Amino acid sequence: MLGAVDIGGTKIAVGLVTVSGELVDSATLPTRPAQPYPAALQDVISALENLVRTHQVSLTGIGIGATGRIHPDGALQPNAFLPAWGGRNPARDLSQHFGVTSAIENDADAAALAEYQWGVCAGSERLIYVTVSTGIGGGIILNRQLYRGVGGCHPEIGHHVIDPSGPACFCGATGCWESLASGTAMTAWARKNDGKSDWDARIICDLAEQGNSTARLAVAREAGYLGIGLANLITIFAPDSIVLGGGLMQRWELFQENAMIAIQNHCGLVPWDKIRLTTSNLQHPGLLGAAATWLHHFGVNDDLRHTG
Ligand SMILES: [Zn+2]
Repeated sequence: MLGAVDIGGTKIAVGLVTVSGELVDSATLPTRPAQPYPAALQDVISALENLVRTHQVSLTGIGIGATGRIHPDGALQPNAFLPAWGGRNPARDLSQHFGVTSAIENDADAAALAEYQWGVCAGSERLIYVTVSTGIGGGIILNRQLYRGVGGCHPEIGHHVIDPSGPACFCGATGCWESLASGTAMTAWARKNDGKSDWDARIICDLAEQGNSTARLAVAREAGYLGIGLANLITIFAPDSIVLGGGLMQRWELFQENAMIAIQNHCGLVPWDKIRLTTSNLQHPGLLGAAATWLHHFGVNDDLRHTG
């Protein structure tokens, strides 16, 4: 049995996951930005101990997926959601408390590992996971290994530039993929172009299905930018599979046709039509990603350790 901890911007989920990817039970804690780290860590410990007690199991290890950037030694880099966690190393601290090994990855990398382990394209040698919701992120599995860059950094596939004349992004670029094709970007564009101020991504998708012209334009624009970004990933990596996750991709059927046209138009040099491009079918990518992170570090191979 694996302990799984998914540290997000609005909540921290704690769960028990079997090595075959079954979520046995979970609990949710709110993310409190002002809460000091020791108290927050204690909340996580108590929640996990409670699950262990309830199900009378012992933990083999603990995997963590966390929002934001993570130093190669496992320490969280400061971020706006959890300022008190900056420089802290929850993998090491949970490992010490529970007396088991622990590993941590960025949550997008963790979700990519869950797809590789248990998803619809499990075992795919070259797999790219893309999550599209309020932002765009992802993780890359190359030759069955989680790919990381120089100094162990997490590559930011959501922030490659699609159109330099596009909106400014916090990443420093203008017109990056996230700034043009995230759910936030689709919503902002629709509101500015005859949409209502209370429209969100879900409403826009619903209205597009009902034939609303502004919503349909917003969806078509979204699909085009989504397709260009996917085409870039396909041209650069020529992966075996791309798995789409995140809230907006639950409506993939709305975007699929135009996105595929963009891919077809932009990928003249690689066999794009051989790539399996599909949506995720994992119900709990956060907690399964956390568990898959432990398996990747300790259950499958010993490379790229963020040890506790
Ligand atoms: Zn950006």
